[in-house]
Amino acid sequence: MTVKQKTRDGIPEKYKWHLYDIFANDDLWKEEYEYILTHLAELEAFQGKLTSGATISECFSLYNSLAQRMSLVIAYAHLKHHEDMSLPRYQSMKDQSVGCAVKLSGASAFIEPEIISADESVINAFVDAQPIYAHYIQNLLRSKAHVRSSEVEELLAHAGEIADASYNIFSMLESADMKFGTVTDEEGREVELTHGRFISFMESKDRTVRENVFKTFYRAFIAHKNTLASAYYGSVKSDIFFSRAWNYPSALEASLFDNNIPRSVCDSLIQEVNNHLPHLHKYMALRKKRLNVDELHMYDIYAPIVKDADTKIEYEEAKDTVLKALAPLGEEYCSVVKRGFDSGWIDVYESANKHTGAYSWDITFGVHPYVLLNFDNRIDDMFTLAHEMGHALHNYYTESTQPFIYAGYSIFAAEVASTVNETLLTNYLLKTLTDPDQRAYVINHYLEQFRTTLFRQTMFAEFEMKAHEMAERDEPLTVENLCGIYRELNERYYGKDMIIDNEIDYEWARIPHFYNAFYVYQYATGISAAQALSHKILTEGRPAVDAYLEFLKCGASVYPIDALKKAGVDMTTSKPVKSAMEIFVELVDKMEGLA
Ligand SMILES: [Zn+2]
Repeated sequence: MTVKQKTRDGIPEKYKWHLYDIFANDDLWKEEYEYILTHLAELEAFQGKLTSGATISECFSLYNSLAQRMSLVIAYAHLKHHEDMSLPRYQSMKDQSVGCAVKLSGASAFIEPEIISADESVINAFVDAQPIYAHYIQNLLRSKAHVRSSEVEELLAHAGEIADASYNIFSMLESADMKFGTVTDEEGREVELTHGRFISFMESKDRTVRENVFKTFYRAFIAHKNTLASAYYGSVKSDIFFSRAWNYPSALEASLFDNNIPRSVCDSLIQEVNNHLPHLHKYMALRKKRLNVDELHMYDIYAPIVKDADTKIEYEEAKDTVLKALAPLGEEYCSVVKRGFDSGWIDVYESANKHTGAYSWDITFGVHPYVLLNFDNRIDDMFTLAHEMGHALHNYYTESTQPFIYAGYSIFAAEVASTVNETLLTNYLLKTLTDPDQRAYVINHYLEQFRTTLFRQTMFAEFEMKAHEMAERDEPLTVENLCGIYRELNERYYGKDMIIDNEIDYEWARIPHFYNAFYVYQYATGISAAQALSHKILTEGRPAVDAYLEFLKCGASVYPIDALKKAGVDMTTSKPVKSAMEIFVELVDKMEGLA
């Protein structure tokens, strides 16, 4: 049976975003796009001439005005395209906007290297005249110790293209060449197994289906284990090659350098999560009890342990609940959320060929944030609304406080605001809901977020650290070595109540994020910071809220660790992770009380 999707025309205007706030029509978009293209030559004319503070100022002023215009050209074309991805007009405007951005980045590629090699007196003259650039310049100059001669840099740039091969091999193999075969679904139908279906099958209530799908899916990876291990080893070796070429003590430190994150942040995350593993074991024991199984297997880990909360929440009610839940953030914050709800920031409902999922668009400087949803009246959709509004308000505060150069923020800080909002919503729902099934649903939603974000991503980070350290000691990353690391981690993380099925030893072979090393730990630190902040907001009130708003206003004008310090959490200590863990422990107890 196919359920016919709504057409966009059938959706009332008040549930659609106002893209005309960016450009009133496509013609004005085109004018702006052409304006940028015709001014690229002016920018290129600065090449080789950044030898005085005044010229650097002029160059930046032109570059920033073009980049800011570019961000709106990009946003309008992409958002229009996402409304209905089958329309060729917006597909082509989107491609044009990307092409234009590539040209702009090519035309401005000389700026940073010229500044890095400029005389100190020139740089000082520029910063004296334009003090707003002080952090930007300081950040740029940090990399001086890691810049090689221009000849070596050119060679390394070419090597970078070769280094992409590992990921390309992995992704072509697992998305194009590998076939997972067919499996039998809950209704006895033969269905082709795909990546997308794998996760929904893992959430199935039918245990036989879960077990068969799990074994079938991993069989395909095991059949290609040597190729997958070689591809991954290649990726690790290239991380090490570049970290050595650019004079970093290790691949981990090379990766932390970009956001100026001290190594202690990773070390204390791993240490503190390990200290609390007995509580994850307790959660697994609870899962085993609720599923009523003799043995808990890896394919039972996503299975639902609470009744479906079939409560329907209309969008209007969800907005109302989210606003009430965010009240601890103060009137001003809530008035901005309300403005977002009422003035075309959000594209609410699903329609034919609309972009799936949910997001908050990153930069629309000078306009207002945009949020895409596919709201379907589920409790999860209300959490998504709270989450995306967290991102949107982060953008709003940053973009209304900072100049364009500091718009946006690093991934290290990115998930904090969204998670704070989700935590406040959880807190509100647990205070107001009385139905035990609904309460269990909300607690479980939250516990799963802890398991998949804080525990699982930290386990991933440990895997990446061990694999890189082995390779740095010249020990080969064979299938046996990789499976050995992975098995030990699973045994330690899940504890004695979990049967560590042999297939899971090969999970490393299917995680695309491992080709972008030392990235995932930031999800774990993000959720920890958010828990610590929500706790402060709920217990300390006004002063904690004011500090939090300062954090939202920082954008990229300070390093992410310092931005979080402004809000009152010090990620170089173990305190935030500890405080997040306390919430997890409390929720496991609450859940046990409901059993
Ligand atoms: Zn998010």
